[in-house]
Parts: sequence; C-alpha cells; structure tokens
Amino acid sequence: SSFDRKICDVTGKGHILTEMTTFWFNATRDIVPNHYLKSFENYILAKKCTVIPIEFVVRNIATGSLTNRLGIEDGTVLEKPLIEFCYKNDELNDPLVAREHIYAFDWASASELNFIVPQCLRINDFMQGMFKGVGIKLVDFKLEFGRLNQDGKKNIILADEISPDTCRLWDVISEEKLDKDRFRKNLGNLFEAYQEVARRLNILHEETNISPVKFGKLRSI
Ligand code: UDP
Repeated sequence: SSFDRKICDVTGKGHILTEMTTFWFNATRDIVPNHYLKSFENYILAKKCTVIPIEFVVRNIATGSLTNRLGIEDGTVLEKPLIEFCYKNDELNDPLVAREHIYAFDWASASELNFIVPQCLRINDFMQGMFKGVGIKLVDFKLEFGRLNQDGKKNIILADEISPDTCRLWDVISEEKLDKDRFRKNLGNLFEAYQEVARRLNILHEETNISPVKFGKLRSI
C-alpha cells in the first residue's frame, strides 16, 4: 500500500506536487492526452472523466511490494519494464490483479488495455530519459486513466497525478530516495527531497526553492 489513508502533513507539499504534476502532464501531453486544464496553488482543474478502476504500475527496478511478494532482490534492474495492474479499492488495499480479472469484472475492455499499456511504456521511456538527464533513476510509478466522451467519441485520457508521491525516484549516484518512500520509511526531509527533484527539473521558480545543501544529506547536482 502507499499509505493512502495516512495523512502526511507537510507544509508546502501540495503546491510542489501541483507544480510537478503540471510539469509532467504538459511534458507528456503529446504522447498521451490527459485530464489537466489548469492549476493554481494546491489545486488542479481537470476535465471530468470516468476513472478506470485500475492502477497501472510501471517498474524499471524491483523494489517495494514486488520484492516483498516474490522475494526478488531489492534493486534488481529489470530487463524491460514490467507493468502490473492493481484494482483500485482502498478497503482491499489495491490488490494486484491479472488481465483476466479486469475482463471478467468488466473494469476495462481488451481494446482499452491494448491502448493503455503501450501508452504507459511510452510515458515511462520519456520520463526515464528526462529523469536520467538530471541524475535521477525512475524506479517505478503509477498511472491512472479515465474515459472521456468527446464529440460523440469515447477517448482514454491520462488522469490523477504524476509526482514524487506516485513515483519512486532514486539519486543515480547515492541511490538516495527522493520520493514518498522518505515518508513511508520515516527517512525525514520529504519536502526537501521533493524540492530537490523540482529544482533539478527546473520546475520551481519561487521563494520555496531554497538551497538543498541546507538539508544535510540530500545530494545536489
Ligand atoms: N503507487 C501509488 N499509489 C498506490 C500504490 C502504488 O502511487 O496506491 C506507486 C508507488 O509510489 C510506487 C509504485 O506505484 O512508485 C509501485 O508501488 P508498490 O506496488 O511497490 O507499492 P507499495 O506497496 O510499495 O507502496
């Protein structure tokens, strides 16, 4: 689980996540259209779509629930990206499901999955490249998609968010975690880590962009 129901009360986190989600939705919108319209402070105004009840988890390096479940060594680099499907249900802790479950319970159709899976891989390629350029490994991340009726046509668009709350990001050299795992594993400096990611991607241009060297361990490039 990603501690969905626990409250992480960090001042300024909402704003930085909004900025990062905005950045990634803009950067990937030519790869796959998304629900983003505009943002202000901690809010994102988005097109209303019907969210498909599946979390699409894309993994490049094995860690977290994958290693726990299957006994794979933490940090194993996967030969090619692995996509997992999880049924979006907090009470059940978003369980892993197979394509067959998705079809059996009509959560999404085969043609929808055949459209979404390659989109996940394309977003992964794009994001992996951009993160690599700023010294960050994109370990894994989660995407959600929705259905939108447009001009009498049903389109699939990217929804939810893309941010260090939904990605695992490790520093290329130190392997330091720059994502929500800092909170999950009680490592501290969550906000500073998010700022560091935003700084490297050149996203934040405001006074919140304080020098990361002040915060001890986080390596700055
Ligand atoms: N993830 C997420 N929301 C969820 C579950 C997972 O954003 O409800 C993201 C998580 O941040 C990580 C990836 O999906 O980047 C894979 O997560 P994993 O299944 O290992 O989840 P864990 O159980 O370790 O949170």
